[in-house]
Amino acid sequence: MSLTVVGTVAFDAIETPYGKTDKIIGGAGTHVALSASYFNKDINLISIVGDDFPQDYLDLLKKHSIDIDGIQIKKGEKTFFWKGRYHKDMNVRDTLATELNSLENFDPVVPDKYQNTDYLMLGNLTPLVQRQVIERMEKRPKLIVMDTMNFWMDIMLDELKKTISMVDVISINEEEAQQLSGKNTLVKAAKVIHAMGPKYIIIKKGAHGALLFGEGKVFSAPALPLEYAFDPTGAGDTFAGGFIGYLAKTNDISFDNMKNAVIAGSVMASFNVEKFGTERIVELTEEEINERILNFVDLTVFSLRKI
Ligand code: AMP
Repeated sequence: MSLTVVGTVAFDAIETPYGKTDKIIGGAGTHVALSASYFNKDINLISIVGDDFPQDYLDLLKKHSIDIDGIQIKKGEKTFFWKGRYHKDMNVRDTLATELNSLENFDPVVPDKYQNTDYLMLGNLTPLVQRQVIERMEKRPKLIVMDTMNFWMDIMLDELKKTISMVDVISINEEEAQQLSGKNTLVKAAKVIHAMGPKYIIIKKGAHGALLFGEGKVFSAPALPLEYAFDPTGAGDTFAGGFIGYLAKTNDISFDNMKNAVIAGSVMASFNVEKFGTERIVELTEEEINERILNFVDLTVFSLRKI
């Protein structure tokens, strides 16, 4: 089924305990679309960049069968730039710079060929833009999933809540769920966020897995214990890409299938952290993905009987 993604296409500069990169390709839209491309070949990307964004990076997206006609290239403007530094505990990071640049006045256009999309992924970017993309679709997609981050909670909470009220699934990390809900336990946080609109809530816990809440049920997915994790940047977006990519591929939005989709997201996120930025995700093979799916099965299957 067709999938449309909106989110930042960006330059990232990253520092982790294991190394440092200068401006490399990043952005929520980039990570989501690349990850989803392993499940689904009908992917559209809506975003904006400046004319400083290299053609090679756009070609990389095209190489993964991502339609980029929805990416506006703004002459004389600069591309969104994000700089982050991770602590020794890589679940903790500091944002050192967020330069909106061309994102500041982004007026998204939904190309005609993206209309009637079945699945819509609102990746992290301005909440107003996320909402405009929903409003500019002639027909409501079958499923709308959104991601966001503390940056938008801090500066435009009311706008963000309007967007949250329009989606089916929200995927956010633990601290953001606590900030958004004002609750400390994740069960309470999920209840408060559910009351804001989304039927399903995914709370990502970094290297500790993810929880899916919905229909009065909860599902817990592990993260794969990895010997080496170099850079978690984009892991949340890569997770979201695997989640929605799997749902679009299987076209089944039941809670049971969402559990599978959460594992698909976790599988993709586990690859993402193995190298810097998008480096690992762009070189994956189907065999590697299938092998890792089996690793997740081995990690969680048990046959304990009642005592
Ligand atoms: P994650 O590690 O999943 O939270 O995502 C990191 C990615 O999000 C990076 O590639 C950044 O370019 C992008 N990013 C960082 N801050 C923002 C923001 N405020 N809005 C949209 N995208 C962002």
